[in-house]
Amino acid sequence: MLTTHKLTASYGDFQALFDISIELKEGETVAIIGSNGAGKSTFLRSLAGLIKNSHEAITFNGTAIGALAANHVLEQGIALVPEGRRLFPSLSVEENLKIGAYLHRKGHWTLERIYSLFPILEKMRSRPGTALSGGQQQMVAIGRALMSNPRLLLCDEISLGLAPTTIKDIYAALPSIKADGTTVILVEQDINQALSVSDRFYCFQEGRVSLTGRPGEVDMAHIKAAYFGV
Ligand code: ATP
Repeated sequence: MLTTHKLTASYGDFQALFDISIELKEGETVAIIGSNGAGKSTFLRSLAGLIKNSHEAITFNGTAIGALAANHVLEQGIALVPEGRRLFPSLSVEENLKIGAYLHRKGHWTLERIYSLFPILEKMRSRPGTALSGGQQQMVAIGRALMSNPRLLLCDEISLGLAPTTIKDIYAALPSIKADGTTVILVEQDINQALSVSDRFYCFQEGRVSLTGRPGEVDMAHIKAAYFGV
């Protein structure tokens, strides 16, 4: 479904990603793990069209999309849940969710389905997004991305700064998201959380893939070495 071929990314003179080549099959959940600054967010932003590349660096369903702008990437069916949630502060929960549907891509996700996935949001539908707890804001950010009916959902650190029970509530939504055949990439610093829900993982270290495999088939010592670079 998605391949990257020797994808690179730089901020000015600083190169953050080096020759990242990965493959994803439709319906898979794949984790990208790695420590602070390993390049995980940069990779997701590249896939989402927020950092441009050569067209050929990213292929999605047979189409080269590496140089498309973010709105055209979204049209293709790739939606990002950004790190830090980035809700629109002056808009209500429901308005934030509706913004996700502005391209009118066909699919199963509607406001009603988002509310049945995260019932607390229905109760808070008229409140400003920023008046919610961190976990509830994260639910809105996920719901907003789902409202675009993506085929590939990119989740950037959705557990960051949240209490363990809240993280559990958020991750409980994943099976419903996958049930529609949605492919998911999860960026996480928490190795155990990421591996517990993923079919495969890529570990990034200093902008390069340092290890790839299936959870359960690679021992933790190898994963930790690839994660910390020791
Ligand atoms: P974190 O978990 O801390 O978000 P990450 O693995 O997602 O880490 P990135 O945010 O992709 O890492 O950052 C990769 C490298 O690029 C880091 O060295 C970071 O300092 C640098 N970087 C990220 N964003 C910028 C930017 N806007 N300008 C300059 N350098 C940046």
